[in-house]
Amino acid sequence: MEYYSLNRKAPITTFENAVIQGLAPDKGLYFPTHIEPLPRDFYKTIESRSNPEIAYTAIKQFISPEIPDSTLKAIVEDTLSFDFPVITLNDQISVLELFHGPTMAFKDVGARFMARCLGFFTKNSPNRITVLVATSGDTGGAVANGFLGVKGVDVVILYPSGKVSDIQEKQLTTLGQNITALEVDGVFDDCQDMVKQAFVDEQLNKKIQLTSANSINVARWLPQLFYYLFAYKHLKSKYNAIVFCVPSGNFGNVCAGMVAQKLGLPVSHFIAANNKNDTVVNYMNTQSYHPKPSIPTISNAMDVGNPSNFVRVLELYDNVFMDLKSNLSSYSFSDDETESAILELYDKCDYIADPHGAVGYLGAKTYLKNNPKSHVVFLETAHPAKFLNVVEKVIDKKIDIPDQIQSVMKKEKKSIKINSYEELKSFLLGD
Ligand SMILES: *Cc1c(COP(=O)(O)O)cnc(C)c1O
Repeated sequence: MEYYSLNRKAPITTFENAVIQGLAPDKGLYFPTHIEPLPRDFYKTIESRSNPEIAYTAIKQFISPEIPDSTLKAIVEDTLSFDFPVITLNDQISVLELFHGPTMAFKDVGARFMARCLGFFTKNSPNRITVLVATSGDTGGAVANGFLGVKGVDVVILYPSGKVSDIQEKQLTTLGQNITALEVDGVFDDCQDMVKQAFVDEQLNKKIQLTSANSINVARWLPQLFYYLFAYKHLKSKYNAIVFCVPSGNFGNVCAGMVAQKLGLPVSHFIAANNKNDTVVNYMNTQSYHPKPSIPTISNAMDVGNPSNFVRVLELYDNVFMDLKSNLSSYSFSDDETESAILELYDKCDYIADPHGAVGYLGAKTYLKNNPKSHVVFLETAHPAKFLNVVEKVIDKKIDIPDQIQSVMKKEKKSIKINSYEELKSFLLGD
């Protein structure tokens, strides 16, 4: 598959280049030149297929022929070594749980897939690649875990000292091997600024190959389309047209769902559920797009004021607003509403949700008011134990801490403190 830049000022390139570069040279996001629907028979017989088989069939056109089929099969199988359960709460609402991976965040799938693709590309190359990421929480852990032990790839994660949760910090700082955590004396934006500066530092980029591992990278973005196929497989015998409600921040996940729909998946509508960071909600109401600084909330992985993947959403509809509007609804909810939703889910459905999933539940309920005959699947993107302070207070009950989290809490933190770009640069250059 070939990819073009959405800024349209860079040459068309291969999957390999798109993964290694992250962003195109004109700073645009890469986008596939073509999306070919899968044969109808694939959907008719989807119940009889395993998750890796479904995923391999769906992703192949985006990767082939640069990664050989047998290698791609192995990558997909290895990436998806955990469950994606669907729990039906009532006749109108189901939950798709995406938190059963090693760091208990849905970002595990994208990070693991990208790591394995990059590992394949570096295997026969003498040059090492450095993945540089700034994290405000969950991305760093998923990326660190996904890339652990991948040959030819070094991962450097910048995080703001004292600003991530204990669990998140342990997930970043205890792995060792090819993963280094840099603890920045500052806030998330300082980490982000240093990473951006590194990507445009010509002197540095002549010496080392840097890439990013957030959802602008096609290898992290595209595998998220698997979730929607898995949910359909579970629910198709009961509900023929599903609505998906996606708790959204950078809009990578919901945009991947829309790619699945382009592949022919029967989806009747998408809902993007947002916290008070409502740039897209405003856009959908006014048709004018005004990015804003982010506002901190209890669903902090969605605190994004200028969603990086929204340009991809627009591209999928050829920038025709009415086409997008007929397929996407978008709502914004406050922290108070989110906490009430956690309580309501617990009381009425005996379901413990994290704050991100609770925003998804609110989106589903809002849509159902005007569309009561629909069945809405909301995505639960993180395990509630990762947001212990909020969830235990709201439901007034202790929740079980899963083994993945308990074992990481016992390990010893290792980080290197830095407080300027110069320190980052000399670390990267090995000075
Ligand atoms: C990253 C993240 C999101 C938002 O996903 P996008 O693809 O950025 O829209 C939602 N919930 C959790 C828990 C996340 O980590």
